[in-house]
Amino acid sequence: MKTVGIAGGGQLGRMLADAAHRLGLRVVTLDPESRGPAGQVSDEQIEGDYKDATMIRALAGKSDVLTYEIESVNAEALQQLAVEGFPVHPTPRTLAIIKDKLRQKEFLKEHGIAVAPFCEPQDAESLGYPYVLKARSGGFDGRGNATVADVSALAEALGKIGNVPAYAEGFVRFDKELAVVAARTASGEIRLYPVVETIHKDHICDTVIAPAQVDKKIADKAEHLAHSVLASFEGAGVFAIEMFLSGDEVVVNEVAPRVHNSGHWTIEGAVTSQFEQHIRAITGMPLGDTAMAAPAAVMINILGERNGPAEPKGVEEAEKIPGVKVHIYGKMETRKQRKMGHITAVADTLDQAKGSALKARDIITI
Ligand code: AMP
Repeated sequence: MKTVGIAGGGQLGRMLADAAHRLGLRVVTLDPESRGPAGQVSDEQIEGDYKDATMIRALAGKSDVLTYEIESVNAEALQQLAVEGFPVHPTPRTLAIIKDKLRQKEFLKEHGIAVAPFCEPQDAESLGYPYVLKARSGGFDGRGNATVADVSALAEALGKIGNVPAYAEGFVRFDKELAVVAARTASGEIRLYPVVETIHKDHICDTVIAPAQVDKKIADKAEHLAHSVLASFEGAGVFAIEMFLSGDEVVVNEVAPRVHNSGHWTIEGAVTSQFEQHIRAITGMPLGDTAMAAPAAVMINILGERNGPAEPKGVEEAEKIPGVKVHIYGKMETRKQRKMGHITAVADTLDQAKGSALKARDIITI
């Protein structure tokens, strides 16, 4: 039986492991936290740091193919394994480009893909005010971003992101944020899921609406951009492309070389979930159907509202709502704004799906 090695042990690893098991594969995870979300459902967990080259090698020793659920994994160690002929997907070269957000933006621009204007921090004035200062690596869920309103605010913004290497990006006054989750095989076959709308609160994804309520012309533009992004990078797997829509202009905000929060709805809302799709892509199976399984799907994150031991309540009640599925990630500790789970509601109309998802969200505390 083939074994998939996953570097990182959070909820993405957990949902990848579930998909791998359904396909008859074994899963080994590497994460420092004992029995975290992925560790709880894996066949085996190596307790160790996925930034540590020795640990990455230990994971490879127990796996037939390696993947990762977090960009901060040690890309150099993965690259060394790839050079030795060990299968790692998406390729560590792709990861190395994407995990440095400035390099990622340069790469996209070089490949003719529309992005918001960006530059080195010392040239930021040329972008006009406000602009967004972003940590080049390590930022997620908006951590690592700071808006600079005027010249006097720069020092504070640098402090906010921890005085790490940064770049500057023009502030986009977007009407909507869109995302496309897509997969490619090692040989370059590409399949896209429908364009979705993502709604962020405090820079953290809150709600995902599938399909996005935009004109066909806009959806086509977003799909075209996503296709170009996937065609530019090498390696197999699922990618997520986050975009800004302003008027009828669509630009790429960020690419992730992995399964993504904007694709959680696919577990119930699409014929093939993004997690299964990733496993299929990295193990050389043909890609699955990305069509929606219902006319509408709405995903709402369950974020922690306090700090302390997690105590999920209301799941049974929420599951009584037609079309609603609750996913709890098994994190022992809840923290304000921490992603603890999510809800997906599928329905015949978006209004119904939204209503059901919101009703379920109101019932659940964690
Ligand atoms: P990021 O982690 O860089 O994707 O940023 C998280 C969120 O911050 C995005 O989803 C947007 O809501 C907001 N954001 C990021 N970059 C910009 C930008 N250049 N202009 C306006 N808002 C932004």
